[in-house]
Amino acid sequence: MTRTTGPAWTKSDWRAKPRVQMPSYPDAAALQAVETQLTKYPPLVFAGEARRLKKALAAASRGEAFLLQGGDCAESFAEFSADNIRDTFKVMLQMAMVLTYGAKVPVVKVGRMAGQFAKPRSAPTEVIGGVEMDSYKGDIINDIAPTPEARIPDPNRMLQAYTQAAASLNLLRAFSTGGFADIHRVHSWTLGFTDHDDAEKYRDLANRIQDSLDFMTAAGLTSETNHELATVDFYTSHEALLLEYEEALCRVDSTSGKWLAGSGHMIWIGDRTRQPDGAHVEFCRGVLNPIGLKCGPTTTEDDLKVLMAKLNPENEPGRLTLIARFGAGKVGDHLPRLIKTVEAEGANVLWSCDPMHGNVIKSSTGFKTRPFDAILREVQEFFAVHRAEGTVPGGVHFEMTGKDVTECTGGMRAVTDEDLSSRYHTACDPRLNASQSLELAFLVAEELQK
Ligand code: PEP
Ligand code: MN
Repeated sequence: MTRTTGPAWTKSDWRAKPRVQMPSYPDAAALQAVETQLTKYPPLVFAGEARRLKKALAAASRGEAFLLQGGDCAESFAEFSADNIRDTFKVMLQMAMVLTYGAKVPVVKVGRMAGQFAKPRSAPTEVIGGVEMDSYKGDIINDIAPTPEARIPDPNRMLQAYTQAAASLNLLRAFSTGGFADIHRVHSWTLGFTDHDDAEKYRDLANRIQDSLDFMTAAGLTSETNHELATVDFYTSHEALLLEYEEALCRVDSTSGKWLAGSGHMIWIGDRTRQPDGAHVEFCRGVLNPIGLKCGPTTTEDDLKVLMAKLNPENEPGRLTLIARFGAGKVGDHLPRLIKTVEAEGANVLWSCDPMHGNVIKSSTGFKTRPFDAILREVQEFFAVHRAEGTVPGGVHFEMTGKDVTECTGGMRAVTDEDLSSRYHTACDPRLNASQSLELAFLVAEELQK
């Protein structure tokens, strides 16, 4: 592939490109005022952190680390609380430990958190109770309440999203380094999970982790003497959908003179906004952050080639993560052709598997759901294709929460179609609950050991 520095770029160039999925704000002056204000606010993340994440993702692309990316489909203003952040963080740490044991390499932890507020939708409008209104596009854009007024895009919501992201990140940073993430503590939570009769099949792996920890303690490696055992690196990510917000939070990195998207450590381009000549690709190509690119059944080899050249012209390892989301039963139809394209181009990418977005179905009780078995099957197919191609399955991407919700069906504490109504809280797509998330980590750990 051509290795160039790419054409010149400014943070506003995306405005001249075709845009999809973005709101039309009715009040241009109000939008301008919010953008001006956000431009003055501090960035949420720093360039050195984004570079450190890029290095970690480069290691994952070589099989020397493994990416765990997870969190809400859409964060919401109503569900914002310390408990929710803590619980998702906690289950991600547990999953990371189990995956570390399976992969025998460090797990790079990236939350879909502290900025995941904007949603692409399948239709711009919907009809509720006979009334047509804009679709809900995430709390950073409009209100979920089913009235035409609530659905009018309001730029002031960007300020609330910024504030919520800042407070979330502040808490995540404290949890990461303040003792909460101690390896022994994290494993004791997991032992609590495997103590239940229904989790018996995972007890053996949990006990083996315990043995390793006991050995480390006996050898003098304790959290008191080894800082690494008591702290974690935790990064944030979101879909860069609302480009006015992203542009307003762009900052120049004083070390390199390059532009940083200051809204989160990693940003990604969704399956609906990855047009090679579109606004989203134009914006993302110019920032130094690690970039994710969702690849679905409609991703062509030619588009992928162009996108890799645009988004990673210097072929920098760790810069580009391809997030495969084809649906169970379809991975074999699409992943091999895209892997071959990557290999033919000699492109450095990290392959990650999102087994959520290709597996949405409507339950018999009318809820949008995802069966646990289909999610697991897609992950297994992803690993099998990489084994066959001799390439690296470097990560996973889940929509999940630390709460005991009933949004996805199945799992060992089986959620049935009838159960879905009891705790269906998502503001958008159905998430794995805490038990389903951890169970999936155990099953992915098995794949990693094959
Ligand atoms: C998402 O990650 O929430 C999403 C909308 O995914 P995709 O772009 O892959 O459909
Ligand atoms: Mn989603």
